[in-house]
Amino acid sequence: MLTSEANKARASRRPERILIIEDEESIREAIAHSLQRESYEVLTAVNGTAGLDLMQKGSMQQGLTQADHSTIAFDLLILDLMLPDMSGFDLCRQIRHQGSNLPILIISAKSSEGDRVTGLDLGADDYLPKPFGMRELIARCRVLLRRWDALPLPPPLLTVRDIVLNLHMASVIVRGKEIALSPKEFQLLEIFMLHPRQVLTREQLMKQVWGREAIGDYKTLDVHVRWLREKLEINPSQPEYLITLRGFGYRFC
Ligand code: CA
Repeated sequence: MLTSEANKARASRRPERILIIEDEESIREAIAHSLQRESYEVLTAVNGTAGLDLMQKGSMQQGLTQADHSTIAFDLLILDLMLPDMSGFDLCRQIRHQGSNLPILIISAKSSEGDRVTGLDLGADDYLPKPFGMRELIARCRVLLRRWDALPLPPPLLTVRDIVLNLHMASVIVRGKEIALSPKEFQLLEIFMLHPRQVLTREQLMKQVWGREAIGDYKTLDVHVRWLREKLEINPSQPEYLITLRGFGYRFC
């Protein structure tokens, strides 16, 4: 249960803002209507391009204070998979690639286990097969928004020695120079930088970056560590940052 302070804080905030990207008008309108009745602020887009556009505009809105700039403009995205201009999977991938952790609920007539797994693998938080009842949709939105609410915002900048990782910008500076990392490399480095000088087992790292199902596929992890070394280390064959501890795992710095 929420404490009275949390209730007060919640009451004083703007209503939670939800973006719906769905090309089918009847479904889009039905969802928007139901959510508005629950006092959510709702914006809609009829295709992927319009949705991305709204998200970009949202983050540059006028009237935001400096502090607001580091927060997202939407609190939740409801995303249809089959859109006229792009697949929801691609959109999901693109959003995560930009470093956003906006909660994403996929709604789709494609309801095979494979589709659900693909959606979740690409960074969606939940997957609701069509047709669905509005009460279930609202309940799932509430869960995602609550989970998001409970997450403490990580510090935007992580600095270890001469490496600076900016979580909001999804950028990494090494010895004064920005380097390009893939999303998995970035996630891996983030975990290392959140736990400097600690031994992290390969199981822990696999679970955090690739999920529980991937545990055991250490080759993938080792390859990513090698790629990270090539980008971080002065001499990748004699690593000073990312140390292998045979039989234990890896230690950063
Ligand atoms: Ca559709």
